Amino acid sequence: MHTNNPIYFDHASSTPVHPDIIKGLTELTTAHYANSESLHQAGLDIQTMMRKSREAIAVMLKVKSDDLYFTSGATESNNLLIKGIAFAYQNKGKHLITTRVEHSSVLDSFQDLESFFGFEVTYLNVDQEGRVRLEELETALRPDTTLVSIMAVNNEVGTIMPIEACAQIIRSKSQAVFHVDCVQALTKIEFNYDLVDCASFSAHKINGVKGSGLLYKKDRVLYHPLITGGQQEKGIRPGTPNAVHHILMAKTIRLAFEQATAKHAQVLEIKHYLLDAFKSMESIVVNSPLHGCSDYILNISCLKVPSQIMLNWLSSHQIYVSAMATCLNRDVRPSHVLEAMGIDGGRLNGVIRISIGYVNNLEDAKRLLEVMEEGIKKYGRI
Ligand code: PLP
Repeated sequence: MHTNNPIYFDHASSTPVHPDIIKGLTELTTAHYANSESLHQAGLDIQTMMRKSREAIAVMLKVKSDDLYFTSGATESNNLLIKGIAFAYQNKGKHLITTRVEHSSVLDSFQDLESFFGFEVTYLNVDQEGRVRLEELETALRPDTTLVSIMAVNNEVGTIMPIEACAQIIRSKSQAVFHVDCVQALTKIEFNYDLVDCASFSAHKINGVKGSGLLYKKDRVLYHPLITGGQQEKGIRPGTPNAVHHILMAKTIRLAFEQATAKHAQVLEIKHYLLDAFKSMESIVVNSPLHGCSDYILNISCLKVPSQIMLNWLSSHQIYVSAMATCLNRDVRPSHVLEAMGIDGGRLNGVIRISIGYVNNLEDAKRLLEVMEEGIKKYGRI
């Protein structure tokens, strides 16, 4: 029986904030308003809490706490790491490698380096499942390649990239630094962070607060600061830290790991239920790979109804999905990820991304299907 509560299937865009985080936010903001850099006791207390948060995260991610830096989110982490590392190594070489299917914060960072700073960028193709080809990576590496950036999990289709194999190739064939955008991977797939040189994370994708992020950079990786004016975060991210967010990052990650364990079966049940239903609908094609895909992301195309019409129809029933990456939603261009996978024509026009979270249940999935089927009947082209 359907209730009138909104049904949210857009967790790859953002997630509901965990009640314990909201509680922590209120309590910490009220009590700890001092500047974390101040040398009085109120400032020192905040510094201690930030240090403990960093140490707790390091234990959970199995990395060194000295290699973790708080930022305002993954767009900032990606920009700082990609540009800061490219600049730091430019005397060694100006060739960089990424893939065609990265998040816009990665792609646009590389495009800036190319357009304004004289770098050469190789954009690796992907196969029809959205996965980078290892031979192509190997061929692209050159003696002057200084940085390679490949995402762990694609945010539009959910494809899991072969990061371990990429790391081995990069390590054995070059001196390049390996950066991984881990936004959609954190707590959702097994990941050995020690394999990579640096990585980016975001809190609001894992039931934390917006404007809260993290970057991981091994100490030996050189970095040219993009923001100057302070020694906070060892000069990598200067400016008065948003201490409350940073203190809560450890709890956010811990709760996300706990939820991933407790609710994984439920997420999988929803995904399989939807997949089975979509496979039997003749006007739907599944774009996400069936294997090697995040359990949380399901990308489909409706061949009979354009994305925006279906999105609006679902939205008018308080069912929320995405047509493509949210940052590009207002852009009329088709998804660069699906194009890179070789998808074209009607399939490209009818893309819908369903991303599952811990608040969803099977009833939500049934209601989504019911309303989609009504939408296809109402707007479907022959
Ligand atoms: N990288 C990926 C893969 C993402 O999915 C996102 C958000 O959509 C980002 C980076 C940017 O994260 P933030 O919203 O924290 O800037």
